[in-house]
Amino acid sequence: MMNKERIGLYLHVPFCVQKCRYCDFCSFPAGEALRGDYVAALIREIKGAPEEKREVDSIFLGGGTPSLLSSEDFSHIFSALSEKYRIAPDAEITVEMNPGTVTEQKLHRLRSLGVNRVSMGLQSAQNGELSILGRIHTYEDFLGSLALVRVCGFENINVDLMYAIPSQTVESYRETLERVIALSPAHISAYSLILEEGTPFYRERESLALPTEEEEERMYLLTCELLKKAGYAHYEISNYAKEGAACRHNLRYWQGGDYLGFGLAAHSLYKGKRLAHTESLSRYLCDPLTYEIEEIRERADEAEEYIMLGLRTSQGISLGEYRARFGTDLLAQKREPIALFSSHGLLAIEGDRLFLTERGFFLSNTVLCELM
Ligand code: SF4
Repeated sequence: MMNKERIGLYLHVPFCVQKCRYCDFCSFPAGEALRGDYVAALIREIKGAPEEKREVDSIFLGGGTPSLLSSEDFSHIFSALSEKYRIAPDAEITVEMNPGTVTEQKLHRLRSLGVNRVSMGLQSAQNGELSILGRIHTYEDFLGSLALVRVCGFENINVDLMYAIPSQTVESYRETLERVIALSPAHISAYSLILEEGTPFYRERESLALPTEEEEERMYLLTCELLKKAGYAHYEISNYAKEGAACRHNLRYWQGGDYLGFGLAAHSLYKGKRLAHTESLSRYLCDPLTYEIEEIRERADEAEEYIMLGLRTSQGISLGEYRARFGTDLLAQKREPIALFSSHGLLAIEGDRLFLTERGFFLSNTVLCELM
């Protein structure tokens, strides 16, 4: 369970070698000079952030491709963080990396700075599928980077996978899963491809050879089955972990804990407010200390968020805690949809817990809409 007396930090690094064809994240290619300006702005932001007494127990450098930063960039960022914050000795410190963008020197530097978790974007172990996605690497590049990461002493490693990729079959996905399981990372995230507006995939959606909905469901169920057999707990809709390897940082998001986001387009949840940075790079570089308040959370928003985020996890939500926090009985309030989804095997109740089943995870959007 997340410790609410502690806080998490997220740092966004928006640089990538090239844009993947499905990606709508805030990320783009950039030269060395721009990367330098960005790191300087990030450090200004860290230094100018409000004083914070709580201990930091998770730091996540995400993107983008943070592994494109130089060893010196990392040193400057971590020195600003440790001057500003009290970082817990057992803090989980993650850096996202893409295959082909890591070097031994950089990895040693990250270890010496306290980084203890690496998240690698693989997506598929099939080179044809990687090329369709517009990824910059092959499966062999990934194997090379993973070996390097391990040689440099990292044990807590996540591998990101994707299913429902154009041209992918249930069998090609099975092979991807089997190859990755054989490598035994501590954590695997497996997301289904979403066609996001504004991406090349979205524009080409009519001509993409996408798997059918039935195939997509089979891929999802195969993920659950093979990863369970291999000893991974399915602890969130798209996340699977070996014992003790659930991502503390992401659990904080789902359990509604406070976190501070730094960098372009970064979001924070801080003392009851949601804050967001600009997505305009020029504005961020000029004024990295200005945040916009997205919303001051009302009680009703908090109740919805409690349901929406809590049901993403295998733990689900506590009906007693819901009653204590929001003064109503959720079972009475949402009697009909809860009964309907339970009778279809999508929702379940055990003691005080209401949670989505494995099939319910797959149809979570539908279930959550009805519970809001
Ligand atoms: S590497 Fe990740 S962030 Fe960068 S373009 Fe590809 S999907 Fe987007």
